[in-house]
Amino acid sequence: MKTIQKNYYVCEICGRTSQNQDKIKECQVSHRRITDECEIEQVYDRGKVEPRLLKITCPDGAEMVFFNSKPL
Ligand SMILES: [Zn+2]
Repeated sequence: MKTIQKNYYVCEICGRTSQNQDKIKECQVSHRRITDECEIEQVYDRGKVEPRLLKITCPDGAEMVFFNSKPL
């Protein structure tokens, strides 16, 4: 009986796997990262300790909005 081994590459950011190393390299550089250069606006509901949402604007103009899903 023969055995074969296959190598899989794994994106360290999202966990995608492929035997094609180039695809995973592309995947890793494609992810938008939140850096110190991004502007983060924090929106609070009245009297709440944690922000209800975060609006993040990156230097390239991309905008992301994250909602706090934690039950109030
Ligand atoms: Zn990825």
